[in-house]
Amino acid sequence: MATNGVNRAMNGDTSIKICIVGAGMGGLATALALAKAGHTDIAVFEMASNLGFVGAGIQLAPNMARILDRLGVWKQIADEAVQCADTSIVEGSTNKELGHVNLDYVQKAYGYPHMVGHRASLAGSMYHGCKKDKAITFFFSSSISGVTFSPKPSFTVTPREGKPYRVDCDILLGADGVKSNTRVAMLKELGETADVQDTGQAAYRIMLTRDQMKHDPELLALIEADTVTRWIGEKRHIIAYPISNKTIYNISTAQPDTNFAEATNATYTTKGSKTQMMQVYGDYCPMIHRMLDLVPDGEVCEWKLRVHAPLSTWVHGSMALVGDACHPTLPHLAQGAAQAIEDAAVLGVVLAPNRIADRKPETINKALKIYEKVRKERAETLVELAAENGRNMHLGEGKAKEERDKVFAALKSGKGPVPDKWADADVQRMIYGFDCMAEAEKACMEEGFLAKL
Ligand SMILES: Cc1cc2nc3c(=O)[nH]c(=O)nc-3n(C[C@H](O)[C@H](O)[C@H](O)COP(=O)(O)OP(=O)(O)OC[C@H]3O[C@@H](n4cnc5c(N)ncnc54)[C@H](O)[C@@H]3O)c2cc1C
Repeated sequence: MATNGVNRAMNGDTSIKICIVGAGMGGLATALALAKAGHTDIAVFEMASNLGFVGAGIQLAPNMARILDRLGVWKQIADEAVQCADTSIVEGSTNKELGHVNLDYVQKAYGYPHMVGHRASLAGSMYHGCKKDKAITFFFSSSISGVTFSPKPSFTVTPREGKPYRVDCDILLGADGVKSNTRVAMLKELGETADVQDTGQAAYRIMLTRDQMKHDPELLALIEADTVTRWIGEKRHIIAYPISNKTIYNISTAQPDTNFAEATNATYTTKGSKTQMMQVYGDYCPMIHRMLDLVPDGEVCEWKLRVHAPLSTWVHGSMALVGDACHPTLPHLAQGAAQAIEDAAVLGVVLAPNRIADRKPETINKALKIYEKVRKERAETLVELAAENGRNMHLGEGKAKEERDKVFAALKSGKGPVPDKWADADVQRMIYGFDCMAEAEKACMEEGFLAKL
């Protein structure tokens, strides 16, 4: 099979050749982090023809912002994003507030505020950061398969137009999402499996414009507030916040997956039915009905929420997994992309060119093992916490809900933890207070991997 110009190393170039599969949040951040660390030969392969952003918002937590700032791409994102002053947890059926948490303290405590923004802004800013760096080359419309691991990683690229070709590299990073081919190849090599699990949950993702909401004073108040609101009910919730300088109200839901139940594993997003959506939230309060009813017929997008069991390892030889490829999560802690970006930042530290200057597979493997040590347990803990948060927010009538609501009542009177974990100060300390790059430096020192950046 032919190779192509991607194989620069074969043409006498001695720089360390790094290939990244996937230009999602994890792949873009990884390319950027490695270029900032000083690498000069980074290729990103993406099967889509462009970044193809799903129109949706995303929470930009301080642990994500800190990294993006160090990578030089935060300012543009922050300029368009909305700073969250507070969050409100509300009973969906009555619109009665169960808990209210002020988030003003976050910036003081962690150096960055909690913000919410548009995915296009987050990915676009990282992409432009990458494009400015000559070290990074993108190959769009290029699907990766046939990964082999020894003596060096190698894989087949199938361009949408043109012939398949093989690429060899020093380091292969699989940032190819929950349906990851690179994960499947790695597990096969290890004689393991980790089938994608159906969580039984799906999400509607909706964006309403200010124009659509402005005629209804209650809805206008929502887009004008600096608040993340979660309306909870049995087995489902709606979370919403304004983005893009408050010109858009972003709404994301979670509910039992009925639409996709029969769909094959390959199906992740589909056009949702507005009638069905109105029924799913039929017992929610009239304001929610008015809000959902603003969505034009045919513009309901539904996502299937999938995860897989924790993997025994994220690393094999000179290959490692990144982001949803190794720690897909339910979105109930708003940390999926943030954790993919932490992966990227740690890779930037452990794979610093002078740490792996000898290009030996054993040196690269040692660096990747440090990456796994810093990242795996933390990411998997947050995956479990996100699932637990979903279970807790989705309780139906019964003892457990009574206990939860007592905790909400205590919060209302000014004391105690926040049942919605993403807004709880102790959980935030664990998530936002963790400087993954400093931890990676420390781990390198502990492992005798001393060369400084
Ligand atoms: C409803 C919902 C709300 C969320 N809210 C938040 C939030 O508020 N905050 C947050 O931090 N996270 C949030 N997340 C999670 C976040 O979106 C994901 O965790 C994150 O996008 C994962 O990034 P990734 O790069 O690992 O994977 P992906 O974004 O899936 O990117 C993988 C890329 O790889 C490409 N690819 C796949 N296979 C191949 C192949 N064989 N060859 C070439 N390319 C390939 C794909 O086309 C894709 O572009 C949310 C998720 C959902 C579903």
